[in-house]
Amino acid sequence: MIKKERVAAKIFKDLVWHFAGCENELFLTFDDGPTPEITPWVLDTLKHYNAKATFFCVGENVLNNPEIYRQIIDDGHAVGNHSFSHLKGWNTTTKSYIDDIIKAKEFIKTNLFRPPYGRIKPAQSFELKKDFYIIMWDVLSKDYDESIDKQKCLNYVLNHSEEGSIIVFHDTCKAKKNLEFVLPKVLEHYSEKGFIFKAIEFETD
Ligand SMILES: [Zn+2]
Repeated sequence: MIKKERVAAKIFKDLVWHFAGCENELFLTFDDGPTPEITPWVLDTLKHYNAKATFFCVGENVLNNPEIYRQIIDDGHAVGNHSFSHLKGWNTTTKSYIDDIIKAKEFIKTNLFRPPYGRIKPAQSFELKKDFYIIMWDVLSKDYDESIDKQKCLNYVLNHSEEGSIIVFHDTCKAKKNLEFVLPKVLEHYSEKGFIFKAIEFETD
């Protein structure tokens, strides 16, 4: 459980980009699922390394794959709201944006939110901060980019992660090729170094 004071470093406009003072801890996050083609594999792989993670789920995917969503929770991972229909905040009015996230709340029980595409207007984050911790990242794997070489994707993650890093992956079909290569290697590499992979969990007020 993360106490509020640990969200000290690298805060930008109250969004969380990194956890300070988390020695030998990493925070893996998976966006855009649940997806039948890849999420069960991610869960098995995490279990193999005794790793916990946070899944920023899209409401409509939870609606379509309730049993995978249930498995994420049963395996002890955290979940976050990633909107109902993966809207881009910059192109959406604040009202429609918030309505979409409220719709997702029906299916995803959490106090965490991550904006799709990392794009959110100040007025939108102002509203959402009343209900959520807004979780960004400091390491973007770009696993979704099929033109990126999988080794390059792995090297990027290994070269940029540090204690307390929040790393973004995607449990989607698009990311499958890179993720299947990168995830086990990241888990292996940091497990050998004595790191623990933790879910993002905040005490509620
Ligand atoms: Zn997304």
